[in-house]
Amino acid sequence: MQLKTFARKDIENKKVLVRVDFNVPFKDGRVSDDARIRAHWSTLGRLLDGGASVAMVSHFGRPKGGVDPSLSLRQIAPDVENAYGVRVRFVDDCVGPKVRAAMEALPRGEIVLLENVRFHPEEQKNDPDFASELAKPFDVFVMDAFSAAHRADASTSGVIPLLASFAGDLLVKEGEMLGAVSENPEKPYVLILGGAKVSDKIDVVGNLLDKATTILVGGGMAYTFLRAQRLEIGRSLCETDRLDFARETLEEAKAKGVRLLLPLDSVVASGLDATETKIADSSAMPAELMGLDIGPKTIELFASALKGARSVLWNGPMGVFENPLFAGGTKALCQAVADCTKDGAVTVIGGGDTAAAVREFGFDSKVSHVSTGGGASLEYCEGKKLPGMAPFEIR
Ligand code: AMP
Repeated sequence: MQLKTFARKDIENKKVLVRVDFNVPFKDGRVSDDARIRAHWSTLGRLLDGGASVAMVSHFGRPKGGVDPSLSLRQIAPDVENAYGVRVRFVDDCVGPKVRAAMEALPRGEIVLLENVRFHPEEQKNDPDFASELAKPFDVFVMDAFSAAHRADASTSGVIPLLASFAGDLLVKEGEMLGAVSENPEKPYVLILGGAKVSDKIDVVGNLLDKATTILVGGGMAYTFLRAQRLEIGRSLCETDRLDFARETLEEAKAKGVRLLLPLDSVVASGLDATETKIADSSAMPAELMGLDIGPKTIELFASALKGARSVLWNGPMGVFENPLFAGGTKALCQAVADCTKDGAVTVIGGGDTAAAVREFGFDSKVSHVSTGGGASLEYCEGKKLPGMAPFEIR
């Protein structure tokens, strides 16, 4: 998806409100991972270089409809300064005269950080009066928070029609990369699905089944598919209300000539905290154990199915990767996807748990793109129009 972005002439000497996502992990008074902050630097740096006066607006946690000092963005201002090397002026509200005054007094090269927008309950109701209060002190709006773009809130969508509005660099990049592997993917196109539940991925399957050359199904969701083929799956995850969907998907894939591959074997154990594991073939799963990772034959099958791919989209880990005993399948697929990238494929990791796994195993720089949005990237791949993104689409 191609999006409308800004040029210098659009923002020079203008007051610009930028929607960022500073909903960062925060523990013991510290930001433990500032990747989300750094992801916005391209947009913010370009605005500052272009002579704009910039204010950043974001949510932080889930305040229950009012001010909650433990969720104040004031606490992360030092990390923002650190990440950008720019002085940050914090304003303890996101609307009203204080914001206007801060923008008037803002010296060149400095940047304003507004207070948590969710301290106003109107934000998540996309209240039009609140959106207009947010927009009032500004000439231009730039939407850069891809991870919040699936929400129709005042600061992600309500302000868009009220100002000259543009997509920021992060939103543009997400649109380019997710678009390349879900809208018009170059073939062979391999879709890798995993994670806990079939129900979370139903709409992705619905949107991408027609386009895929091969679909690899691993993780907890694979067992519902194996069960749909009447195999014994022991105590593995199974969504009985999705067995029909699994059966129909297998039939549809066959009818359309899409290769849908399921695990040939699994790493099985008595539970998530087990210390002993076994390898079991999919045709002989022990009744008292559960499948918690794909096994070695499956790794080989999936890795060879990835060879020669031109586009790869991966959403959902292959096993309970949080436990090293069940991390082997996810790690091996990280390597296989990295090899595809080296061979020239466009490889994109959907956000959320898969992104966390790819980062944890050190493969984030070995794939084409790791999406910054969990829910947002899933909805994008389902073919949905995101309220904070679709208005910038160039047709
Ligand atoms: P999702 O958010 O749907 O992508 O699911 C991610 C979660 O699925 C991770 O926390 C994994 O631990 C979990 N998961 C992956 N494989 C399995 C499995 N075989 N059984 C249970 N949970 C799994």
